[in-house]
Amino acid sequence: MEFSAADHLEAMKIPLGGGEALHLRGRIDRLDTLDDGGSIYVKIIDYKSGATKFDLTDLYYGLQLQLVVYMDAAMELEHRNQPEKKIVPAGLFYYNIKDPVVERDEEQDADAQILKALRMNGLVNSRLEVIRHMDREIESESDVIPVAMKKGLIQEARSSVATEERFASLRKFVRGRLKDFGREILSGETAVRPYKRGERTACDYCPYHSVCGFDLKTEGFGYKRLKALRSETIWEEIEGGKEEQDGDDMDR
Ligand code: SF4
Repeated sequence: MEFSAADHLEAMKIPLGGGEALHLRGRIDRLDTLDDGGSIYVKIIDYKSGATKFDLTDLYYGLQLQLVVYMDAAMELEHRNQPEKKIVPAGLFYYNIKDPVVERDEEQDADAQILKALRMNGLVNSRLEVIRHMDREIESESDVIPVAMKKGLIQEARSSVATEERFASLRKFVRGRLKDFGREILSGETAVRPYKRGERTACDYCPYHSVCGFDLKTEGFGYKRLKALRSETIWEEIEGGKEEQDGDDMDR
């Protein structure tokens, strides 16, 4: 499903003030909805050929906004089509489509291992009823979504879940980040300051090196280091509506 500002979706047209707006466009690989009479549950999936992992820290720093933008657009569209119903985010996922190779294991069936390796990763609505809509057979660890249960309760440490309130805060936060980026573009911000997180940098697979001239041996060039943050700290920031605290340290 394709989206753009031309569809008059607020999620795809971010006002920047002064009559300016950031126009986005994108395509959701897969959108599933479930109508239980009163609510419509929305699940989105982005197919990836690599090993993409949903990462809250990347999202917080603005490096992984895509899935939340898609969820925002999909929910807005569903609301427009059926305004009398409650629109509920069920989950947003990456699904890595490459056939996994698993180690031979005498104790575990190869098919079970492959299924596990193919499990989607992302963020799931923590309401049990929503989880059961996406995996009707879940008892302990789900084969299809990143949720583990024990005696009917979600094992938070082994799951990637968020409440509906957190999903709402996340959508608001991402719109705020997009607004910040749009304003930076408009203000002519062109500093060559790629990010560095751990050993990973923005330059790793970038084809524009010959254009930007980024060179650590030259005075004044350095990475913008992104600090590692605990999930709960990130959620506090997202829910508190605070602005991003950029790791401002230069790292060479
Ligand atoms: S190679 Fe240049 S353009 Fe590419 S991410 Fe690094 S600094 Fe930016």
